[in-house]
Amino acid sequence: MVTFQPKLTQVSDYEQFIGAEAVDRIYQKALALKDFHVTHINSTYYGGGVAELLGPLTLLMNNLGIKAGWRVIQGAPDFFSITKKMHNGLQGGKINLTKRKKRIYEEIIYENAARNHLNDHDMVIVHDPQPLPMINYYQKKCPWIWRCHVDLSRPNPELWDYLSTFIRNYNAVILSIEEYRQKLPIPQLFFLPAIDPFSIKNRKMKEADIEERLRYYKIPTDLPLVVQISRFDRWKDPEGVIKAFKIARKEVDCTLVLLGNVATDDPEGAEVYESLLNQKEERIIILSHEDSSLVNALQTRAAVVLQKSLREGFGLTVTEALWKGTPVIGGNVGGIRYQIKDGVNGFLVNSVEETAARIAQLLKDPKLRSQMGEKARETVREKFLLTRLLEQYLDLFNSFETVFHYKYK
Ligand code: UDP
Repeated sequence: MVTFQPKLTQVSDYEQFIGAEAVDRIYQKALALKDFHVTHINSTYYGGGVAELLGPLTLLMNNLGIKAGWRVIQGAPDFFSITKKMHNGLQGGKINLTKRKKRIYEEIIYENAARNHLNDHDMVIVHDPQPLPMINYYQKKCPWIWRCHVDLSRPNPELWDYLSTFIRNYNAVILSIEEYRQKLPIPQLFFLPAIDPFSIKNRKMKEADIEERLRYYKIPTDLPLVVQISRFDRWKDPEGVIKAFKIARKEVDCTLVLLGNVATDDPEGAEVYESLLNQKEERIIILSHEDSSLVNALQTRAAVVLQKSLREGFGLTVTEALWKGTPVIGGNVGGIRYQIKDGVNGFLVNSVEETAARIAQLLKDPKLRSQMGEKARETVREKFLLTRLLEQYLDLFNSFETVFHYKYK
């Protein structure tokens, strides 16, 4: 007996947010792409923004008749510890790029290539540095795209030179923003990420359900909540968040919640989490749980959400919080700058002190919070819903004959 009839989100479900015309346009663009076979390859099925995007994006593509797959490479922790160092290096951190590291990196990807059969595709899209060398182990029969999500404003030059030897074998690169453009002999496209408004994390939650989640995790609601939700990663500056909170609470009483998770491709997470635990207090709550409803409840209920990153490719956590009508105080870096309009839907900050001052200002001024909150949701409705990103991909698929001179069978 069938107890539940699952239903996938359709592009038409977005009509309430983007209007009928945009919905029709997307359906029209998809007509020529029936059975277009594309696969996305990344390095984790959960934890972090890329996995967050690929789930709903590939489903929407399939609903349009595109055969969109999603594959995840495998690797032991020593492989991911090397690729995390590369991730850090791409964002400007130091890396000691030894022969041993390069060898493990290339060997593991070679093994992944051996067990992934990519023969009859119309396009292959490889995400981030982890699976990047895969292209070297196939006979290319269709366009291959490298989609890099990290903050490339200041990549480590030695690492970039090394990775470029793989990158230039691709047909094009997609980066999040123009500022990340690199010197490369192939076309560079710019796609800002987006969110799924129907997911458990982003759909409207009832008050009672929010209360229930907060109670379940023993999060007190008697004082305003200041929240940051991020992978435990130094680039997200959790230490800076705690310092800013400690300064702000001298002016306004409040509770800090730092919620984080650890992705399978990020072995540094556990260490960062543990290093924070001695800062726990009654009003400094540090949690590590994998619970999308909790993320939703916190982003909705927070008086202010922080994303005090020092580097940030895009920052889906910012989009998610803005969508819930919560003003966001974000680091003045990378993709955050494309989402927060300073003083309009939140604030951009450059230091701990500035963060503290903005927290205090927002906590003292409920009217400002609600004005900014309204603009925050509108920002996302206009620019950062998944249908906009989907349409960019459809345009790319439709244009690949002219752009890449490949023929779609
Ligand atoms: N996230 C989560 N639980 C956590 C921390 C993060 O579900 O405890 C999610 C968050 O909601 C967002 C994604 O992980 O969807 C993080 O994406 P973002 O682009 O902000 O950063 P990344 O981790 O990719 O650097």
